[in-house]
Amino acid sequence: MLKILISHAGKLIFLTGLVYLFLLYSLIQRYLYSSRLLKLKTDNFNEEINILIAQMGKQNSLQSSFEQKIDHYNNLRNIANKIQNLSLQQVSQYLVDYVFFLIGKDKGTCLLYLVEPEKQKLNLFLSKKEDRSMVIKQKRGDVFDRWMIKHSSSLLVRDTKLDYRFDLEKTEYKPDRTVLSLISSPLKVEQRFLGILRLDSEEADTYSQEDLRLLDTICNLGAMGFENALLFQRTQELAIKDSLTLTYTRGYFLERLNHEIKRTMRLHKQLALLIIDIDNFKDYNDKYGHIAGDILLKGLSILFLEFFSKVSDAMVCRFGGEEFSVFLPSVEKKQALELAEDLRKESQKKKFVLRRKETFVTVSIGVTCLSLESASAQDLILKADAALYNSKRTGRNKVCFL
Ligand code: GH3
Ligand code: MG
Ligand code: MG
Repeated sequence: MLKILISHAGKLIFLTGLVYLFLLYSLIQRYLYSSRLLKLKTDNFNEEINILIAQMGKQNSLQSSFEQKIDHYNNLRNIANKIQNLSLQQVSQYLVDYVFFLIGKDKGTCLLYLVEPEKQKLNLFLSKKEDRSMVIKQKRGDVFDRWMIKHSSSLLVRDTKLDYRFDLEKTEYKPDRTVLSLISSPLKVEQRFLGILRLDSEEADTYSQEDLRLLDTICNLGAMGFENALLFQRTQELAIKDSLTLTYTRGYFLERLNHEIKRTMRLHKQLALLIIDIDNFKDYNDKYGHIAGDILLKGLSILFLEFFSKVSDAMVCRFGGEEFSVFLPSVEKKQALELAEDLRKESQKKKFVLRRKETFVTVSIGVTCLSLESASAQDLILKADAALYNSKRTGRNKVCFL
């Protein structure tokens, strides 16, 4: 009986053990399974996190690139706004300052060359230098600027010594300062070349392609500002210059004369005034026609303008009809009379060819100088006019002083 009981108890214990083992096994399996699941989940989350981090990185770089772009467009908007209504000098100053600061980081040199329309040559208009004492001697540009004109495109030189486009030893390149790298952009409006804006440095590899791109964009805007300023300047000139003779109009001349008289008196200097009148011009018109008369007026005024360009700050105006007036700052009686006499002689030598026929005219000139008795524009004009009257009265083709 006891044996039977022991054997049953043994089976029971064995069975309980089996059940226990099974439970343990299934628990371990479930644990392992859930562990694997958790690991999988962790891996999944890690992956998600990594993706998110990567996306965040992209977003950040996207955001910073957007911020950079906004900055860039803000800069361009500021330039466009700023240069809309400025004079040529102001546009130039603004662009040079801006480019020197924004791209040049206030280092090296920034040069602005403008094209002289008559000569089609470059002329150094403005510069900004890190070393303020340095003098730029190449006012007409150097080998790099000439390359720009020839190719009509922008230029990046990382190292002037290594750039195959410029064989500096063969060319007559004699630099007055060290230039090892540069960027340069043309100022162009509808294929018209207005000038060059350039940044250069004493060190190689100062500028990048990105810098050149920015300079190009600024120059595109700048060129429009220049065009605007030039058009404005021309409109102003039209208002103060006579359209036939391109000498100043009477109104503007009188305004300048009054200003010049005040300045002369303040500085205790000299001032001479001339009135020039073409002799017997009515006869010339009657003989050759009004159009021929106009051509002669234009030709003579070119002579007058060229002649007085040698006297600093001289101003020539068409006083009316065939009469011109000129003021000469810092010129005293003797010199004024010599100048008037030279001009009279040059005028009578000037040939005007009409239908293969050579024609000539003469001029009479009245001269006066600023003095205590005649210290206003009106007094000066009255005296010069009286002197001119004397020239006419005593035979024309003469210079008289009063
Ligand atoms: P004088 O030696 O005394 O100065 O004689 P003049 O004939 O030059 O002077 P006058 O005042 O008698 O005549 C001036 C002439 O100038 C008359 C006018 O037809 C001419 N004139 C004035 N303005 C113009 C212009 O714009 N074009 C042309 N072709 N002639 C002009
Ligand atoms: Mg006359
Ligand atoms: Mg006259």
